Amino acid sequence: MSRRPLIAGNWKLNLGPAAAAAAAGELVELVAPIRDVDVVLFPTALSAQRVVEATSGTSVGVGVQWVSPHDTGAFTGRNSASMARELGCTWMLAGHSEARADLGDTDARVNGSLRAGMASGLLPMMALGEPLEVRESGNLEAFLAAQLSGGLDGLMADQVSTITLAYEPIWAIGTGVTATPQQAQDTHAFIRSWLRDNYPAFVADQVRILYGGSVKPGNAADLLAHPDIDGALVGGASLKPADFIRIIEAAQG
Ligand code: PEP
Repeated sequence: MSRRPLIAGNWKLNLGPAAAAAAAGELVELVAPIRDVDVVLFPTALSAQRVVEATSGTSVGVGVQWVSPHDTGAFTGRNSASMARELGCTWMLAGHSEARADLGDTDARVNGSLRAGMASGLLPMMALGEPLEVRESGNLEAFLAAQLSGGLDGLMADQVSTITLAYEPIWAIGTGVTATPQQAQDTHAFIRSWLRDNYPAFVADQVRILYGGSVKPGNAADLLAHPDIDGALVGGASLKPADFIRIIEAAQG
């Protein structure tokens, strides 16, 4: 089954409101001729409003990098899915390794965030990936299976089929070291086989699995050529529209 490619930019804690609006505006122009690739930006929550405005009426989606499992309440410093939706966001990210490390996100909280996002009508993306020592110790599949079963715990097949997964080996994020295309393909194939083992077949067929970890214009095409790599979650190289568009172009059929 062919899945529509998706290229997402994770801007992390970069690009304040003015810079984010400018970068999004530039990207919108560059993306205008692209027809067969979905493009999503994840700006910092403080810049989201400006990015929503800059991309309004275009095909570029906007999401928040983190949402609380809670909708409202005494949760100082957090963002809620319903407020992100009200702002005009259509996507949410959960489970990024930086949020797991900095904010102490557990698989249970990732699950709560996904549930909150879906209840508010956001399209969910869940990131997962292993530290280097897990890969080297031969426990990769058990580690990823635990993240998948914890993050997706209790969700119905119809819900899981709407989730985009982003496989991001922690050792490749922001390091300049990319998984080889074959390492990425093998790991994506494992994730898809896990979906096949745990849900009706349509779920594994539909779920898009993105690769993330030092994706650049120069390596994107080789990664995206593999059958189980449906797109990319891009950090550093998404900050410059001129670089990011080259990755988006590499995803075109
Ligand atoms: C990321 O932040 O999700 C990421 C993959 O970053 P980078 O592309 O900079 O490695």
